[in-house]
Amino acid sequence: MKYVVVTGGVVSGLGKGVTASSIGVVLKACGLRVTSIKIDPYLNTDAGTMSPFEHGEVFVLDDGGEVDLDLGNYERFLDIKLTHDNNITTGKIYQSVIDKERKGDYLGKTVQVVPHITDAIQEWIERVAMIPVDGKEGPADVCVIELGGTIGDIESMPFIEALGQFSYRVGPGNFCLVHVSLVPVLNTVGEQKTKPTQHSVRSLRALGLTPNILACRSAKPLEENVKEKLSQFCHVPVSNIVTLHDVTNIWHIPLLLMEQRADEALIKVLKLKRFAKEPMLEEWMRRAEICDTLQDPVRIAMVGKYTGFADSYLSVLKALLHASVACQRKLVVDWVASPDLEKHTEVEAPEVHKKAWDLLKAADGILVPGGFGDRGVEGKILAAKYAREHKVPYLGICLGMQIAVIEIARSVLNLPDANSTEFNPDTTTPCVIFMPEGSKTHMGGTMRLGSRRTYFKVPSCKAAKLHSNASFVDERHRHRYEVNPEMVPEFEKAGLAFVGQDETGKRMEIIELADHPYFIGVQFHPEFKSRPGKPSALFLGLIAASCRQLDSLLRHILHRGNLTSRCISNTGPISTKAYQNGNLKKHTKSLANGNFHSNGNGVHA
Ligand code: GLN
Repeated sequence: MKYVVVTGGVVSGLGKGVTASSIGVVLKACGLRVTSIKIDPYLNTDAGTMSPFEHGEVFVLDDGGEVDLDLGNYERFLDIKLTHDNNITTGKIYQSVIDKERKGDYLGKTVQVVPHITDAIQEWIERVAMIPVDGKEGPADVCVIELGGTIGDIESMPFIEALGQFSYRVGPGNFCLVHVSLVPVLNTVGEQKTKPTQHSVRSLRALGLTPNILACRSAKPLEENVKEKLSQFCHVPVSNIVTLHDVTNIWHIPLLLMEQRADEALIKVLKLKRFAKEPMLEEWMRRAEICDTLQDPVRIAMVGKYTGFADSYLSVLKALLHASVACQRKLVVDWVASPDLEKHTEVEAPEVHKKAWDLLKAADGILVPGGFGDRGVEGKILAAKYAREHKVPYLGICLGMQIAVIEIARSVLNLPDANSTEFNPDTTTPCVIFMPEGSKTHMGGTMRLGSRRTYFKVPSCKAAKLHSNASFVDERHRHRYEVNPEMVPEFEKAGLAFVGQDETGKRMEIIELADHPYFIGVQFHPEFKSRPGKPSALFLGLIAASCRQLDSLLRHILHRGNLTSRCISNTGPISTKAYQNGNLKKHTKSLANGNFHSNGNGVHA
């Protein structure tokens, strides 16, 4: 096993996660099998109890792991399936050491950060790196490890120490350290400044780690003399210094790395053999370019608890993007804060209310994502009602499905008190109820979590057709409440079909309205398994319906039997050379927050 460790210096938010994932893509393009580990030095055992509005979305894995959103980037970029143990936190490491101490495994010794915590970190890395994640047998060739935080953070010290020991233990040729740093430009002089990078490399060395490759974030490509200066002061050869300048969408990053021959640098440091003759990144190039050139918009209203931090819904945005690219449309996400749609806002702030409704009414499609707590629920119910009555394509995810069920109970079944017991425990008409095996006393890891099977019950429904008439689909869950099975017959009489259910027939997984262009709600989260080039079927259905392509999409699936052939653009492949000659349109609009994610339109790429 070879290890690539990615650290970050100077400031946070440099896009280390995207850089690490892109390194993985480059290695994969060389014919190597890649796995990854994300280290989060915080004390939480996992991300499950962390607020998505502070820390970004909680990403859910097949095994039910609730992890940092960077693992989502790895899964999407590398098309792999990670496990809960691929996300290491200080909490997990200390828990494992303290458990051992309680068992008496340390045989009377004083248990200390060095060597016990640092040993536990190294053992964890070595164990998890061996887990196959790409569906093939046996371990991967390379494990990319991203260390969260910035060099110098107090909480990452044990990890730095462990990685220093680890690099010594596995030896040169098996360990490559990529340090991601910032090269700012001072407006007055317009000069690219290397000092912050010099300082952060110095701190890294003082802590016992030597960078092999420098990845410098900057607004524009680094000047040659700047690279030389960095090389001289940081003791890294110029050929191992790459610039990751601002780009229009993150799919350009692996291409930027290739363009600067980062593949060669990695292969040399790791003494690897390239398996693929030419790095195969044509599909990436095509996608990166298509994404930049799309003009025709598809407007999706995202009705949620929006607080201006788009990372809270990262995977949903990615899934929408994958589907939009497949439909050759430019994704425009209109954020609608659900409380703004509610009646009281009309009284308190009529303009805010009007603006929210104008956005909703102008949308081609409406999406209500997952959520917890009762704030803004009534606004979401109003959005679902609008979509149902005005035949606007609608996709409700988890909470988005539950509120659609509540809406139908209230408006169609004439049950005005209908509610979820999550929002009104005393409702006389509980149409969404607490699921029996959940826990009300413990919040961490007690939901219905991870991959579960949904069986399609109605072959003629759109959800089944979008899944190529498969008999089941495995999707990831994260919830405590579900549709009350006792009310299902009543709903069905009113035209709401429960087209997907679990194996017991008690858990309602997919709802669909037949007399509507596209009204689907799912108890699971299909966004977590969407991939660039392999969009989630139900997201694709939403976007296709929103731009009136659903019929042709369903016809295509019927004849071809799958979605993927349609998801690759019909523009011919673009050669690596064309990219290197700068023939691809690259808008290098400066990104205010120095983050790869944003393309400046408020839409994540
Ligand atoms: N709060 C709801 C539940 O626990 C929905 C959860 C979600 O949307 N992920 O069931």
